[in-house]
Amino acid sequence: MSEPFTLGVDVGGTNIKWVHLLDDGTIVDQGTVPTPEGGPLSVVDAIVGCAVSAGAGRPARIGVAIPGHVNTKTGHTALVPNVAGDWTGFAFGPELGRAFGVTTAVINDARAFGTAELTLGAAAGEKRAVFATIGTGIGGAIALDGRILRNESDGIGELGHSTVVRNGDLCGCGNRGCAEAYAGARAMVRRYREISEHAGRTEGDTHRQIDLLRQRFDDGEQQARSVVDTATWAVGSAITTACVTLGIQTAVIGGGLAGRWPEFQSEISLQLSTRENLIGRSNVLLAQLGDNAGAIGAAVSASRH
Ligand SMILES: [Zn+2]
Repeated sequence: MSEPFTLGVDVGGTNIKWVHLLDDGTIVDQGTVPTPEGGPLSVVDAIVGCAVSAGAGRPARIGVAIPGHVNTKTGHTALVPNVAGDWTGFAFGPELGRAFGVTTAVINDARAFGTAELTLGAAAGEKRAVFATIGTGIGGAIALDGRILRNESDGIGELGHSTVVRNGDLCGCGNRGCAEAYAGARAMVRRYREISEHAGRTEGDTHRQIDLLRQRFDDGEQQARSVVDTATWAVGSAITTACVTLGIQTAVIGGGLAGRWPEFQSEISLQLSTRENLIGRSNVLLAQLGDNAGAIGAAVSASRH
C-alpha cells in the first residue's frame, strides 16, 4: 500500500500540469498534458486520464488551480477567460469529486502560486508577503499571519488590476490604466507592436514576439527600453502599493517573465527601497518552485480544505 497522496492540478490555457504530493511536501510523481479545447467536461476527462495513466491509485484528495474566478465554497467556476469553453457556473469541484470519489478544492491559480511559495518555496517561514506572477498577464496573492488571504470568490490579491496610469490603456477587465495593461507578455508585445517599426505587424506567437523584444532591449533600442521600463515600473508600483498598504516587507515574483527579465526584480527592489521609512527594509525574492508551483499550491490548499 503506497503512502496517501494529494493530486494537485494546474489548468492553464495551453497545458494541464499535475503533481502527486505527499503531506511532507515531497513530489512523488508529476506530468503535463495539453489542455483539451472541448470545454470544462473535456478538462475533467483529461484530469481523470492523467490519474489513470499515472497508475498510483486513488488520491486522498484533489486540489485544482484555474486561471479565473471560482467559488471556493461550492467549487463552481465563474469567469475563466483563457481556457476554451463556457466555464460560467460549471460544477468543476463537484464533477472532479464525483469522478474520483474524494473531496476536491478549487483555487485561483495566482493564489495557488502564493500558497506553494509560502508553504514550500521562496517565502517559507514568512508571515507576511506579496506574491506576483509575471507571465502572459499579472497575477497576485497576499499572505498575512502566515496564510494566503482567500474569500468566497477567491478574488484577493489582484495586483495586476491596480490602477497605475490615469486614463491609461484599456485592460481586459474593462478598467483603464491597470498594471496588466502595461506588464506581462501580452501587454508588452502589444505595446511594442504599437510603437516600433521593428516589431512584426502580424499577430504572432507571443513567445517569439517577447524574444524579439528581449533582443531589441539588449541592443539598446529606445522603443524596446520604453516598453520594458513602463512594464517593470507598473509591476513595481502595484507591488509597492500593496506592501505599503499592508505593512509587508517581502515580495516573491515568479512566472515566465520574472526569471528571464531581471529588470522586474531590480525595479521592484528600487521602488520598495524608496519606501523604507514606511515599511522598513524589504526583500524581493524569485520564486523557487518553477512551473509546478500552481499544482503544488492547489494540492496544499486541498489538504487544508
Ligand atoms: Zn484590469
